[in-house]
Amino acid sequence: MGSTATAAALGKITEAVVADTVGAEAEQQVQWQQVLPGQSISSILKENGFRNDHLGRVYSENLPLDQFPLIPGERFQKRWNRVSGLKELKFYIIPKRTSLTVWRQKDQAGATLRVENFMVKLRNFSGNAGFHLLGRIEAQADRSIANRFSDSFRLSGNWQELLNKSKHYQFVVEELFDNGTFIGFGDILETNLTTANEQHRRFFVAYPGGGAFINPDIQPAQRLFYSPVNYLRVSSAFNQRRRHPITKRRTPHLGVDLEMPSGEGVYAALDGIVVNVGRSRAAGKYIAIRHHHGFETSYNHLLSVNSNLAVGSPVAAGERIGSVGCTGYCTSPHLHFALKKEKRFVDPLPLLTVYPYHRKKYVGEKWLSLARGL
Ligand SMILES: [Zn+2]
Repeated sequence: MGSTATAAALGKITEAVVADTVGAEAEQQVQWQQVLPGQSISSILKENGFRNDHLGRVYSENLPLDQFPLIPGERFQKRWNRVSGLKELKFYIIPKRTSLTVWRQKDQAGATLRVENFMVKLRNFSGNAGFHLLGRIEAQADRSIANRFSDSFRLSGNWQELLNKSKHYQFVVEELFDNGTFIGFGDILETNLTTANEQHRRFFVAYPGGGAFINPDIQPAQRLFYSPVNYLRVSSAFNQRRRHPITKRRTPHLGVDLEMPSGEGVYAALDGIVVNVGRSRAAGKYIAIRHHHGFETSYNHLLSVNSNLAVGSPVAAGERIGSVGCTGYCTSPHLHFALKKEKRFVDPLPLLTVYPYHRKKYVGEKWLSLARGL
């Protein structure tokens, strides 16, 4: 996939940056730092000399700074110009391929959000699987890549068995570079698990705003419900005996948490009628939809609910009903998605298709071309 050309281009860019840095060394300092657990954008800004009046100016730009999902281990860039006194911090929102630059200079401060055109290089990882498969992938790449590797098999009926019993694993992932510096991993494009006698492959089909892992050997499973988001990234599973991350009490987690950047679309998992919409202390902004056969889905922690929706409104599968946020009891932006069957909570994942309904045609066509080509 043109990785040689990319590597050559990357070499050139790296040289250019080195030359630029050496020439301006006295004036400009560039430093890379890793996000530590528990750090937020505002705590990092304070540590970097942003005073309250600076923060006031930054926040007055109306960018939802505290909703950017900073992931521990992610890198951000610090630039400081000794002559002008300009200090800039650049954060990356990799899933959105954007960056956020926050700056201060004397009494002035501000922030800008920018779409980035990162340099992409493909990298192949492999190894022996065995007991600590995800731990090994985390050591080779990082935690989020290990989670996404697991996500690629997550909706297969036997995913746990596949992960536990495989002998060998392999995956191809995008590495993203900003001006020659590695800033993080992009999408996993392909995953492979080899058991004693079988190979299990998943291919990532990208579409605007996300993508889904499909099995090229089986037509994408069309289960009763469709994904409520453009990219299924499970950060917390359905669990009857979970310890709550905020209250620390043993509280069952009666849905799945799907990690998504704030503002991304939330889609109805199936046709239905809105039965509840509002706001509560724990769930934040939420909406619930009743479907046929005694099913009901609910969508919590939303940033917004579409204003045309009220109790009694009909909704179609794949219709946008709101956006991902972090309202209510929430530590970082995600959708809490729950499913009830005859008023009892059940695990939604075994009933979920890997993509939202409005991507059905697109994914189906991609699968056909993959299946023909393989
Ligand atoms: Zn949840």
